[in-house]
Amino acid sequence: MAEDDTDDSEALALREAYRASSLHEAHFVAGLMRQAEIAVELRNADVFSAAGPLPALAVAPSLWVRGTQAWKRARKVVDSYERRLHEPSTTESADWTCQACGEISPGNFEECWQCRCDRPSA
Ligand SMILES: [Zn+2]
Repeated sequence: MAEDDTDDSEALALREAYRASSLHEAHFVAGLMRQAEIAVELRNADVFSAAGPLPALAVAPSLWVRGTQAWKRARKVVDSYERRLHEPSTTESADWTCQACGEISPGNFEECWQCRCDRPSA
């Protein structure tokens, strides 16, 4: 019984699509995936937010999706997120706070990742 059977069980397995460096980033990328209609599961978020004085654990918040197809789509979302992240911005690139919901979005995003309000102009 090999464990690396690559057939239907593989196609429906939960796979890690992204490992975030912070809880904020995990929520951000999860939001992007949900906008792309990918069902995403956030793991280790509780551990992370409760971390407080605990030592920095080896568990980073990570995003999991079920199935190869969803995983491939999720990776595309991550790729474009990372491209935008590292792309030299020609405009103001400081993080900004949404005036509608209070979430923080990266400076190169033109709308709030959470509620999709336009970025405030000032
Ligand atoms: Zn918002």
